[in-house]
Amino acid sequence: MRFETKCVQSGYEPKNGEPRVLPIVQSTTYKYDTADAMGALFDLKSDGFFYTRLANPTVDAVEKKIASLEGGVCAVMTSSGQAASTFAVLNICKAGDHVISSSAIYGGTFNLFNKTLRDLGISFTFVSPDITSEELDKLYRENTKCVFGETISNPSLDVLDIERFARSAHSHGVPLIVDNTFATPVNCRPFEFGADIVTHSTTKYMDGHACALGGVVVDSGNFDWSASGKYPMLTEPDESYHGVTYTKTFGKAAYGVKMRTHLMRDFGSMQSPQNAFLLNLGLETLFLRMERHCSNALKVAKHLESLIPEGKITWVKYPDLESNKDHALAKKYFPNGSCGVISFSVAGGREGALKFMEGLRLAAIVTHVADARTCVLHPASTTHRQLSDKELEECGVTPDLIRFSTGIENVDDIIEDIDNALKPI
Ligand SMILES: *Cc1c(COP(=O)(O)O)cnc(C)c1O
Repeated sequence: MRFETKCVQSGYEPKNGEPRVLPIVQSTTYKYDTADAMGALFDLKSDGFFYTRLANPTVDAVEKKIASLEGGVCAVMTSSGQAASTFAVLNICKAGDHVISSSAIYGGTFNLFNKTLRDLGISFTFVSPDITSEELDKLYRENTKCVFGETISNPSLDVLDIERFARSAHSHGVPLIVDNTFATPVNCRPFEFGADIVTHSTTKYMDGHACALGGVVVDSGNFDWSASGKYPMLTEPDESYHGVTYTKTFGKAAYGVKMRTHLMRDFGSMQSPQNAFLLNLGLETLFLRMERHCSNALKVAKHLESLIPEGKITWVKYPDLESNKDHALAKKYFPNGSCGVISFSVAGGREGALKFMEGLRLAAIVTHVADARTCVLHPASTTHRQLSDKELEECGVTPDLIRFSTGIENVDDIIEDIDNALKPI
């Protein structure tokens, strides 16, 4: 199947007489004829479902679809994007370990790393995505376990040079984890550029309708966990799970299986079957929507840029603009367009931003991004409110930054809305 066909068809394959549409299996539990049959499931010796915290047929079908869209060997869906980022790191890091992360990441991920996981004993070094390879090289330690970054960062819209970061991580024997939420697998498949693990907040474009929170971690199956001796949790027997050695028993799927049997078992941040059903509806049209998001956003970004000489707009950041510092990277990683999100600022800084936003009619002020309806947010007073000015600067979120999430409406209506809101500026 080609990519678009996978969006529509992969994951769920009904047999003769079964429902054509992915059913919502609203059951926590599954019946077996013998205790032995169920015991084999617990031992991971046969495939099947026994408790929805670990796996559910609706969720399983959507996991298979997302794994195939990203080109990975397996996927684990979670209750939110935050849970996905947490699991992606905790699956291979414990107290005493160290992670190198891009500083251009979602504010929630930054807090998770910088506060919560630090409090659990994992240390983090944050780096600019523009750091040179030589500088990056110097930051690895004995206990470094992974490198983390976002394909296109939310909301600063920096592009991660995936190939360069992957090469660096691999030369130190650690994997690269990439949050691919904004690009989606329609516009970029990080595994093709050497990333090892991909995460998503499926709450955004994948769902696309602002209906269901969700996250996913996808494993490329490409990373050799045994080579360095750094990952005993994968390469040595897990006493909490009948002494299974994940790399020996599950080969390329070791990381994914361990996440399910260990983290999902203990933390229980699973995706609900209802939300998985809604997400699947979104995935069926993802490739159509992304095309429109990108073409609309490019027109809006060019329009905003054209207003700079008049002084109403002070700057515009969108990777597909030729003026963007990351334009060459964007052309390499997203030849068909990056995403629908633009950041910019209007005259008058923070106050100007708030005034402009209040003047919008079609674009709604919401704590959300990347859905079908155009929406807008002022990160410094909302999502990034907890960060200090220094941390804001490190994340590339200046106080005047407006995050504009271009929807799939008629672009002329979006531009008219912007022009009307700019009148009093
Ligand atoms: C929203 C977002 C998250 C967190 O996802 P939730 O589903 O809101 O928990 C993580 N990463 C990125 C890039 C996001 O945009």
